[in-house]
Amino acid sequence: ATPISIITGVGKAAQSGILVRNGESLQSIADVDIIVLDKTGTITQGKSTLNVTHAADTTTENRCLQIAASLEQGSEHPLGLAIREASSERGLKELACSGFEAIAGHGVQAELEGSTWYLGNTRMMAQIGLSLESWESALSELDQHGQTPVFLADEHSIHALFGVADAIKEDAKTCIRALQQQGLEVIMLTGDRQQVAEHIAQQVGIKKVYAEVLPAGKSEVIAGLQESGHKVAMVGDGINDAPALALADVGVAIGAGTDVAIAASDITLIGSSFSGVKKAIGISKATTRNIR
Ligand code: ADP
Ligand code: MG
Repeated sequence: ATPISIITGVGKAAQSGILVRNGESLQSIADVDIIVLDKTGTITQGKSTLNVTHAADTTTENRCLQIAASLEQGSEHPLGLAIREASSERGLKELACSGFEAIAGHGVQAELEGSTWYLGNTRMMAQIGLSLESWESALSELDQHGQTPVFLADEHSIHALFGVADAIKEDAKTCIRALQQQGLEVIMLTGDRQQVAEHIAQQVGIKKVYAEVLPAGKSEVIAGLQESGHKVAMVGDGINDAPALALADVGVAIGAGTDVAIAASDITLIGSSFSGVKKAIGISKATTRNIR
């Protein structure tokens, strides 16, 4: 039978917007010593905005943005939404595409007006075999501002570079500091570029960063930490976080995130704030103290 104090704890958590799957998950979060946080949508708002475009001239720029938005028509990624929004703000019409493909951790590709177009990161450009040489200074400028680079290319060359930025959640820094003061190690785990990840990590006081991790690699990082004897909680929102959320000792989903992430988790935080992680640990410790 479930001890009455656990039932009370689960109820108390629910009142604070923390939905706990069962009494066990509430108990186990008290034993966690590492908290792994996804970046996009967990530490940041996941509402990206297009900030800069590097292209030959304004005509080319609009044309490139139109193609980019068209390629993202089938995508649910925050980067895709940012690009489509910027394009529609300029009154550009999305063009018909075929053969759309989202390549996890890389970007998207599709056929448009008879050629194959690619929209994604440096890893994707390298895979097509395109040189980034003439884009190095634009790229490092984006790095300095912590903006995620998104390249538009066809099979022959890169046509534009977009810089996309995502704001940090208001409660992120104080919440992370509070967790650290409780003696927990806080780690960032993201598919984004090292430079962007470090820029955000520095602003919220996170020292350890795993960046440029492919979706399958996220759960490998969790497994590695567990193998070295740690009890790990993972907080995430995306489809790409789901395997890591499921593997972690405690998986915590951001309620505003994807259904897949919620389904894979033990705990769901209603809304988009993650201060609930701290509260859940508090309730869990108070609850287990009553039992032990
Ligand atoms: P995370 O949510 O941890 O940032 P993802 O695995 O979703 O990681 O994405 C990793 C990287 O892959 C992104 O930072 C981006 O560079 C690229 N990418 C993924 N999906 C898209 C997309 N739809 N459009 C452009 N780039 C993308
Ligand atoms: Mg995310």
